[in-house]
Amino acid sequence: LIDVRRVSKWFGARQILFDVDLRVERGQVVVLIGPSGSGKTTLLRCINRLEEPEKGDVRLDGELVGSRIVNGRTRPLSDAQLSRQRGEMGMVFQRFNLFAHKTALANVTEGMVHVAGIPRSDAEDYARQLLSRVGLAEKADSFPGQLSGGQQQRVAIARALGMRPKAILFDEPTSALDPEMVGEVLEVMRQLADSGMTMVIATHEMGFARDVADQIVMMDHGRVVERGHPSAFFSNPQSDRTRQFLAKVR
Ligand code: ATP
Repeated sequence: LIDVRRVSKWFGARQILFDVDLRVERGQVVVLIGPSGSGKTTLLRCINRLEEPEKGDVRLDGELVGSRIVNGRTRPLSDAQLSRQRGEMGMVFQRFNLFAHKTALANVTEGMVHVAGIPRSDAEDYARQLLSRVGLAEKADSFPGQLSGGQQQRVAIARALGMRPKAILFDEPTSALDPEMVGEVLEVMRQLADSGMTMVIATHEMGFARDVADQIVMMDHGRVVERGHPSAFFSNPQSDRTRQFLAKVR
């Protein structure tokens, strides 16, 4: 479903990603792990074009992300087309990124109405279903400031689901939360995974990764150093770098 081919990214003169390849099949959960600064966030941002990679390309369901080929030449997509593609790949950020002056319901409805073009009353009905799915039916009229971090993150997940995405990308979704809120967010993510959602998740939650992932991808210094099914990956890591990293985080 997601096909990342030889993606390289520079910030100024500094290369951050080096020829990264990543394939995510429909329904798969891929967990990105690796030390801080290894490029996990940048890779996720390149996948949904919040960053533009200088080299390589990303395809979603066979369609190039962020550009199209016209008469053999690569052309950037219009803003409207890019917004549509971004909706197809929901993104959940470390710091929720909700609109502070909008209710939970309005946060979930906003993109459905303005990007997906769904009539407001239909959008609100679906948004209420999604809020109830993440356990927040009672909080539809609350503002982000009245919600805990874990509740805000669950609103952000409902918002991503509102666009009926083909996949959801999660960038360290629990690392800004108080420890007692981590479990409720991981539980919602676990249910999503069980429902067959395609997910790419950067996280330091190794227990969750082991339980839920179909594939673990270990990054270091902008490169994939190892990948594999969690059973083999955690019990018998192949590279020294992975062994060192796992010894530190476990
Ligand atoms: P973390 O676990 O801390 O989020 P990460 O693996 O997600 O780390 P990235 O956030 O992708 O890593 O960062 C990779 C490198 O790119 C880091 O050295 C970071 O300083 C650098 N970097 C990220 N964004 C920018 C930017 N906009 N401009 C310049 N350098 C950047």
